[in-house]
Amino acid sequence: MPRILIVEDESLTAEMLAALLRQEGHQVSIARTGADALQLARACNPEVVLLDIGLPDLSGVEVCRRLREFSTADILMVTARRHEADKVVGLDAGADDYITKPYSPAELLARVRAALRRRCRSGLQIRRFGNVTLDLAGRRVRVGETEVELSPREFDLLAALARRPGEAVSRQALLDQVWGPNYVGDNKVVDVYIGSLRRKLGDDPDRPRLIQTVRGYGYRLVAGGPE
Ligand code: CA
Repeated sequence: MPRILIVEDESLTAEMLAALLRQEGHQVSIARTGADALQLARACNPEVVLLDIGLPDLSGVEVCRRLREFSTADILMVTARRHEADKVVGLDAGADDYITKPYSPAELLARVRAALRRRCRSGLQIRRFGNVTLDLAGRRVRVGETEVELSPREFDLLAALARRPGEAVSRQALLDQVWGPNYVGDNKVVDVYIGSLRRKLGDDPDRPRLIQTVRGYGYRLVAGGPE
């Protein structure tokens, strides 16, 4: 059952949306503030977030930016203002789509279905870690909007970590997966490649926000953001 998070401070609108989406077979949570939205998103790990831009505490754009630090949800911004600027700022902050109020329920449901189809099609081949986007199928990496050139081995190493987000992966496991079980040599080669990945991805080796060192063990790839 797809999990959908509605972030909307107007109770009636939120309840109406929730009823519609539940009829479609979705599991729905409602957050009425930006702070609630971030907390609930961490707890329920939604596939789609409907995010109202006008919230009582944080702006929807700020919520979007913070969600992107840890969530791979499809974010659909909902704006009452017809200004081009809102849309652009929202998309820059990491939103995937937007819809302008007033919208018809049919249009909204169609957008949600489209978001779920997109996710299905990409088969979770697109992983986001903070401002780093990893396309596992296309073997491409972007930092923000800029494409980064990785060597095949660097890409494989990053992909091996990305397939187990947030988990500590041992140097030996990385060596086996990326260099193959027949590799003869020291697992220090992993550290060298990690150093190079951090450089290319703009990760600070002293305070990594992306590829963290698990002392005496290996590495873990995290969603980013300051520790
Ligand atoms: Ca509102």
